[in-house]
Amino acid sequence: MTFFEKSAVMTSASEQIGRVPACAACKLHKSCHTPKMKVYGKGKSGILIVGRAPSEQDDQLGKPATGEGGKILRDELARNQLSLFDDCWFTHAAICKPKILAKDFGKIINWCRPNLVNTIHDLQPKVVILLGMEAIQSLIPYIWRADGDYSEERWKGWNIPSQKINAWVCPTFNPTFLAETEGRFRNIVEINKKQFREHIKQAVLKSQQDRLNYSHTQNDPDQIVDIVETVPEIIQYFDKVLQECGDSSNKNEFSGRMAFDFETSCLKPDSKNSRILSMSVSNGITTFAFPWSLIVTGTDSDRIRARKAVVRFLRSPYPKIAANLKFEERWVRSKLGIRVRNWKWDTVLAAHWLDYREGITSLKFQSFVQMGYPDFEHKVSKFMDNDDKSGYAPNQLQKNVRLHDLLIYNGMDSYLEFQLAKLQIQQYLKSKT
Ligand code: SF4
Repeated sequence: MTFFEKSAVMTSASEQIGRVPACAACKLHKSCHTPKMKVYGKGKSGILIVGRAPSEQDDQLGKPATGEGGKILRDELARNQLSLFDDCWFTHAAICKPKILAKDFGKIINWCRPNLVNTIHDLQPKVVILLGMEAIQSLIPYIWRADGDYSEERWKGWNIPSQKINAWVCPTFNPTFLAETEGRFRNIVEINKKQFREHIKQAVLKSQQDRLNYSHTQNDPDQIVDIVETVPEIIQYFDKVLQECGDSSNKNEFSGRMAFDFETSCLKPDSKNSRILSMSVSNGITTFAFPWSLIVTGTDSDRIRARKAVVRFLRSPYPKIAANLKFEERWVRSKLGIRVRNWKWDTVLAAHWLDYREGITSLKFQSFVQMGYPDFEHKVSKFMDNDDKSGYAPNQLQKNVRLHDLLIYNGMDSYLEFQLAKLQIQQYLKSKT
């Protein structure tokens, strides 16, 4: 492929999920009273609710949500003037009753996931409420990625504007779990119930808004990121972003801010083999990325001119944004011998400050839960990891990733850092009023 062919970065892990359930491997349909329980309800409010699996009683009655958990759910919907089976549809992560509380229920969810995907494509819900870990595990790999952590603790309460299915995705507790723990851990159950109430209320509010309407090209990384491949272009692009930041007709509370990001050969900069591979910049209007080789190779005059443009940008008074800014600062000091002027926002620190749960601060997770971005980067990021703890072992980026894909990936990081910072600043300002 040539340098400018369309990148493979946008090819999402979710696109590898098929549309045919693996019933021959699963076989649960052979041992239950109501095999392959149909989606239940009229869905007048466009809300699809996903539970774990039919209970013994559900299976016998041929209908979901017949137990105590169903009652809690009905009560909370009624508080919002909704009826479970008039206003919502109900389905499960596994649509046949499991024989026992199967240890390998994760496998069953994977086998049955195509049923949920097909249901969403058929019904086109405005809101999908995920009740508990199994429902979360069923849908998240399709709309984002399979990263293995589907705990309610991590996912509960987000209202995710999923670009993949054009629906709000609202994970919360499994109410059956709330019913089962009633009376045992009173304080915790009370807190969980209050949170469940709030989660249902927020999901219902989302169903009253206009339907999400993302087009498949709207957030195409190839459209967002300009790839720069010559020294005159580098100078031109830095001039452009600095001019846009200083443009008084562009003034709003976010204007003047810029995010930048490096892709590097390893984590730490201070060894003779540590190298910057690429740099990207975004001010929300213009996003570009270029290979760092243009700064360190070529004629003396070209190198000096390109380096000057980078330094002018990093030392400009405009506020800078990064995800984990100490990483970028450390590489700038080591490779350019200067400090970044006017750091303004770190999206990782802000994510932690806004919500102190574990496993939620990464740019990729935040871009998904706050902006609904699908996984656009697994083809690149998997080559960043290695087992080395020193931070100096080289990653596999140079060996395995096409330069074009690396630059698009790098550019998207800056773009998402800028967009995420914008949201976080709004949330911060709102929290102060
Ligand atoms: S649970 Fe799903 S995958 Fe398993 S047999 Fe039933 S329909 Fe098929």
